[in-house]
Amino acid sequence: MLGYPRIGPNRELKRALEDYWSGRCDEAHLREVARELRADTWRALRDAGLDSVPSGTFSFYDHVLDTAVTFGAVPERHAALGLGPLDTYFAMARGADSAAPLEMTKWFDTNYHYLVPEIAPDTRFRVADRIPIEQYREAAAAGVPARPVLVGPLTFLLLAKPAAGSPDSFRPLDKLDELLDAYAELLGELHSAGAEWVQLDEPAFAADRSPAELDALRRAYHRLGGLARRPDLLVAGYFGDLGEALDVLAVTPVEAIAVDLVAGRSQVDRLPGLPGLQDKTLVAGLVDGRNVWRTDLDDALSTAATLLGLAGSVAVSTSCSLLHVPYDVEAEAGIDPRVKSWLAFAVQKVREVVVLGRALREGRDAVADDLAAARAIAADRAEADLVRDHRVQARLKSLRPQHFRRADYATRRVAQESLRLPPLPTTTIGSFPQTSEVRRARAALRRGRIDRATYRQRMRDEIEHVVRRQEELGLDVLVHGEPERNDMVQYFAEHLGGFACTDHGWVQSYGSRCVRPPILYGDVSRPEPITVEWATHAQRLTTKPVKGMLTGPVTILAWSFVRDDQPLADTAAQIALAIRDEVRDLEAAGIRVVQVDEPALRELLPLRAAEHRRYLEWAVNAFRLATSGVADSTQIHTHLCYSEFGDVIEAIAALDADVTSIEAARSRMEVLGDLAAVGFARGVGPGVYDIHSPRVPEVDEIASLLRAALAAVPAERLWVNPDCGLKTRGYPEVEAALENLVRAAAQVRASL
Ligand code: GLN
Ligand code: ZN
Repeated sequence: MLGYPRIGPNRELKRALEDYWSGRCDEAHLREVARELRADTWRALRDAGLDSVPSGTFSFYDHVLDTAVTFGAVPERHAALGLGPLDTYFAMARGADSAAPLEMTKWFDTNYHYLVPEIAPDTRFRVADRIPIEQYREAAAAGVPARPVLVGPLTFLLLAKPAAGSPDSFRPLDKLDELLDAYAELLGELHSAGAEWVQLDEPAFAADRSPAELDALRRAYHRLGGLARRPDLLVAGYFGDLGEALDVLAVTPVEAIAVDLVAGRSQVDRLPGLPGLQDKTLVAGLVDGRNVWRTDLDDALSTAATLLGLAGSVAVSTSCSLLHVPYDVEAEAGIDPRVKSWLAFAVQKVREVVVLGRALREGRDAVADDLAAARAIAADRAEADLVRDHRVQARLKSLRPQHFRRADYATRRVAQESLRLPPLPTTTIGSFPQTSEVRRARAALRRGRIDRATYRQRMRDEIEHVVRRQEELGLDVLVHGEPERNDMVQYFAEHLGGFACTDHGWVQSYGSRCVRPPILYGDVSRPEPITVEWATHAQRLTTKPVKGMLTGPVTILAWSFVRDDQPLADTAAQIALAIRDEVRDLEAAGIRVVQVDEPALRELLPLRAAEHRRYLEWAVNAFRLATSGVADSTQIHTHLCYSEFGDVIEAIAALDADVTSIEAARSRMEVLGDLAAVGFARGVGPGVYDIHSPRVPEVDEIASLLRAALAAVPAERLWVNPDCGLKTRGYPEVEAALENLVRAAAQVRASL
């Protein structure tokens, strides 16, 4: 196992963290909860029959942050707070007083977020914190001689950013040699403590890397491999094919290499004859660490069989850490038993690895029952009617170019004048604050304390409240506020055919925050309209246009566990058809503006540039399929949450939405220039209010952002809106901010 979930089977760590942060428990209690979770994990993994159990996969917040702290990369602003080690750590993660936290960003192409280390030319790397050694000792004391896991030195530096104030030419990688000294010291100490193996994770090499970076990899592992006093080293590369890095690693003096043979299956063909592999252990990642399907053990075994003899020895593992899947499928009572029988969460995946290991060592007969069971399940899933919806498949086959196309923008623009919007129209991104009453009503419905009708009435009341507030504020395009949604993906999954939702399938997203990705197991259908009732209720309360609010196909795909038995592009198109029907039903019910959110468009971008074009083609097509079924007069909006467009900017233009809202407040509208540079010339709403902070922006500040935007976008195409949805904010700040936003728009409008 390259890694394991750490939040706790019942999110024990989440509760303890939040109690500690709010002062409801002390540090001793938090540490005790953490110790128990670690002990339970080690015991469970050993008892399951693994030959090697990892330690150090626990984290109070994030494993990249742990590595930064271990090696002394603590920014001065956090160190200067004068807090104890744990509170300094949390200050880096969450900020404290005036010290801003480290930036947070997505871990490769997953929905897990890590904290970005800040490295300055004078950062003094050393073994500053002994947690890896302590956890190794703790495991040993519990009777488990574990394998400490660390983020590797290259991946650590490649994910870091230069601290503010560093010279322009400075790169964190410039400090590799100093960091290697610190790694060498830690490896020596782990060796003295008795560790036989240490795992160093280098997923950064599943992405494109420059010759200089590959050379740094070579240097680093020759150096660490050449140490006299050290444990055996396992270098793990996952989330894809390691490309040239595999050749580089194979000739370094490390003892083992772990390869991801699920996301990087192409490596299977390159392993035969790979120079250097003969004296290494090849750790074959055959069990998918990121998805939830039971492994086809026959298939995995035949792959494994082709590997035997290529390396000094072959071991079996998951393709990557199990951090990205929930704990135990047995905890789920609400999933159709047949679908449930196809699923494997972390506990089940450990068993699969053990079975594969035994089969390789003792022969297939030793695990004949397990193999037969897996075979029966694979066959059942392949032929199950509930996976197939012939109507959906026929519809997919009948798609023609016109299903992906609208009239040209100029024609649509004229048709949309009937909306009678002022220049610089004001709107929001969709959600309004989710009040505790709304959340309580949802919990009460789930526990059966109120009935559907009562719940529905509470939501209608909330929508009315949200509409009234927007009218008072004077916004131009209103929203219903999304009170009925627990989550922008799960809500749709609960209403679409082909999806299952879990009760306990929590996966860490960042810190104490977890998400419960739905499981997409079959063809996607929409038994009935989903949002029409809420949107039309809102529209009846006002003469202003109400914007219908949907989640886009790529985002639904990105934030679900998806089927692995057909191309992603087909699954995306199926979801798109369901959304297309919803868009058309909204239009038929009198909704004239519909927003289809795609905040995850960038997240699914493949790690290798060579695969970008293919991905963007189907992703853009899915969005266009979802949104092109309406009349010219219906205005389609989309929303994306980030401003680092880089590789997807042309794709954003290709979505062909009438209006695109994007995050921009923090980057001072820079993104508008980038959009203009690729010929984007439709409506755009650069966020002028940073909703990630409780701060209320002043009228002048918003007006100055709008004037900056007008330098890149003509007034007739510029929209005025916050950066993102308001659901995590409170009403007082939201009302104050929106009031200022409306006033700033009026001020700038008057000066046009
Ligand atoms: N419409 C969603 C909201 O306002 C968009 C959220 C998002 O982009 N992540 O909450
Ligand atoms: Zn957003």
